[in-house]
Amino acid sequence: MSNSIQTVGIVGAGTMGNGIAQACATKGINVVMVDIADAAVQKGLATISGSLDRLIKKEKISEADKAAALALVKGSTSYDDLKGCQLVIEAATENPEIKNKILKQLDELLPAETVIASNTSSISITELAAQTKRADKFIGMHFFNPVPMMALVELIRGIQTSDATHDAVKALAEHLGKSPITVKNAPGFVVNRILVPMINEAFFVLAEGLATPEDIDAGMKLGCNHPIGPLALADMIGLDVCLAVMEVYLEQFGDSKYRPCYLLKEMVAAGHLGRKTGRGVYDYSAK
Ligand code: NAD
Repeated sequence: MSNSIQTVGIVGAGTMGNGIAQACATKGINVVMVDIADAAVQKGLATISGSLDRLIKKEKISEADKAAALALVKGSTSYDDLKGCQLVIEAATENPEIKNKILKQLDELLPAETVIASNTSSISITELAAQTKRADKFIGMHFFNPVPMMALVELIRGIQTSDATHDAVKALAEHLGKSPITVKNAPGFVVNRILVPMINEAFFVLAEGLATPEDIDAGMKLGCNHPIGPLALADMIGLDVCLAVMEVYLEQFGDSKYRPCYLLKEMVAAGHLGRKTGRGVYDYSAK
């Protein structure tokens, strides 16, 4: 399938927004990246520049490639600059009120044929689509962090997403060098639906005293070829984030198999949230 999307708008210049902008621009796609404040836009542009510098150091791209990519990214604080885009990807803060407001605004502003995608990790694509009058032209486009490195994009079809919308966004993902998978809308989509309960189970194994944290992580690394053990991964993601995700699954599926482990809850209550607080399952205070 050949890609027909040449101009992509991105709402949010944070971790994911600037990563998506970089992934697009390095493949020759024009980007308009919008954030609320100019400082956020400039920070996003600087992050792309720094990331491209690291690729130059590794001899993966040339100075000319960097200049060409940066020339394709227009930073802005005005939604009006998104009017000429064929696809606008919403990658703003993970908050339903913020996203609903942005999507209503985009729906009013953009021409009827423009496709809108959301990079949400946890909000229902069907519910977000309902904020617009173009649910057939709405889709989830769930990139993984860091976007320029990670090959996966989950394409999440809301109940009304059309085949044409899915196929156009799939072709773009492939043009970006990604390997998209197609998923029906449901909490956690595919990857996080499997990953976070696995992490939760590792906490049960730890709480039952079956093995040390080091041995649990070594078991999953050596026995399943995972690049990182589940407990070390929980420390990277944040134990509070893992707990919040399990609570959403428990509430939305109404199935007790998603109950969060009591040890996970206790560690979050103690403020042992992982790397970001210097202590989670492991102690990072010396680093
Ligand atoms: P972030 O906090 O780094 O960036 C969010 C950006 O959105 C900020 O720069 C903020 O100023 C901006 N923003 C807020 N309201 C806005 C508005 N009304 N208009 C324009 N910009 C606005 O967050 P992030 O980690 O990049 O996450 C963005 C989205 O991607 C979330 O939905 C998140 O769930 C999803 N996601 C994150 C990851 C991850 O690992 N960080 C992975 C996959 C998906």
